[in-house]
Amino acid sequence: MKLSVFGAGYVGLVTGACFADLGHRVILADIDRRKVEMLRKGRIPIFEPGLDEVVKRNAKQGRLLFSTEQPRAVRESDILFIAVGTPSLPNGEADLSQVKTVAKTIGANLDGDKIIVNKSTVPVGMGDLVASIIREQKGGRHRFSVVSNPEFLREGNAVHDFMNPDRVVIGASDPKAAETVAQLFRPLNARITMTDVRSAEMIKYASNAFLACKISFINEIAALCDRVGADVNEVASGMGQDKRIGAAFLSAGAGFGGSCFPKDTLALIHVSEREGVEARLLRSVVQVNADQRKRMIEKVKEVVGPLEGRLIAVWGLAFKANTDDMREAVSVDVIELLRAAGARIRAYDPAAMANARKSLPGVAFAKDPYDAVKDADGLLILTEWNEFKEADLGRVKSLMRKPAIIDGRNIFDLKTVKALGFTYRGVGRSA
Ligand code: NAD
Repeated sequence: MKLSVFGAGYVGLVTGACFADLGHRVILADIDRRKVEMLRKGRIPIFEPGLDEVVKRNAKQGRLLFSTEQPRAVRESDILFIAVGTPSLPNGEADLSQVKTVAKTIGANLDGDKIIVNKSTVPVGMGDLVASIIREQKGGRHRFSVVSNPEFLREGNAVHDFMNPDRVVIGASDPKAAETVAQLFRPLNARITMTDVRSAEMIKYASNAFLACKISFINEIAALCDRVGADVNEVASGMGQDKRIGAAFLSAGAGFGGSCFPKDTLALIHVSEREGVEARLLRSVVQVNADQRKRMIEKVKEVVGPLEGRLIAVWGLAFKANTDDMREAVSVDVIELLRAAGARIRAYDPAAMANARKSLPGVAFAKDPYDAVKDADGLLILTEWNEFKEADLGRVKSLMRKPAIIDGRNIFDLKTVKALGFTYRGVGRSA
């Protein structure tokens, strides 16, 4: 098949490269000239394990093309994927301007029957809006269908997730279009859920909101564990063995961040309240998550004392491990709060430091984890990279001014850190 993907970001690039790997001819169209140039030269603009190989292999074989020429991407393909960003507006509402711009471009250049597949996360009703924008342009002269195919991949595991999805959701009103899109996914042997466009759009928001809910739930339980002397890791493990609950997303920590959960929960709250449905639960999920960042500062103060002039080493800046994505990362808020309390920060992240420099002025960056902890009064862990789990803690202790660990991701074994003589605070684990 001939496919075009509009937007070569985390979702678009993975989608385009993986479809090319399944044998299709894919044009990846992006308005960012720098990104397109990089991709043409074989350089991958994001850190995503395994993506490099898939992109290079398919570009070399001529199946994956990169372009800034949007009209060409419309004309030369039969199926057009929209994978542009839908960030938050200041009031929490999803900013749909990028999706609308792509819809206009498609409408203005439509030259035959096409299927438009929306992969961007959008509020219910956006599929209809995309169709009406296309119809208003000269697209009205051609037959086209708009299909919703929300994306569930996780950054850091994106290629694997795309190729091995738990389910593929296809929302369409035209059964022929739905079947054509389903054909693209058949080689993955995944469960395919066919539904209407609005339900598909809702499945994506409801899924992300539910996962965010699990995280805030376990963080609230962790706060109680801190008080009553229970260990939240034991609690989560005991809960997770119940199939009705499931073990995933029950890791207590410094809270959720990233380009999806914060904005998608806010967007769902916005839609709910616009429709007159009170979003009491979701508002609490957001509040618990915001409080969790503040709780991290309290923990640092508990072990380090007043922060004025203290040097805090931070391990982990990316919003999660195996990505360089700093969007809505917990580290940005926590470091801002630490600096406001007078602390100096020296930080290290295996992949996100280039991006972090833009959002963290006034922070010193270290060349490795050990360089970060030299003479530090405390070590704060904010991302669960394997590199940190495997660190030589004896060496860390010898380098620090005071051996104190505030483990915002509960990556260390309590007994080990204590035996080494660290003062330790995890999340929901008795000190
Ligand atoms: P991103 O910001 O990484 O990428 C968006 C890309 O779209 C950018 O490269 C940008 O230059 C490009 N773009 C903007 N306007 C354009 C236009 N008119 N034509 C062509 N390209 C244009 O975003 P992302 O993280 O890939 O997310 C894309 C969508 O997928 C969002 O709606 C997001 O919520 C959703 N999503 C993201 C993830 C994730 O893990 N990142 C997972 C599932 C769903």
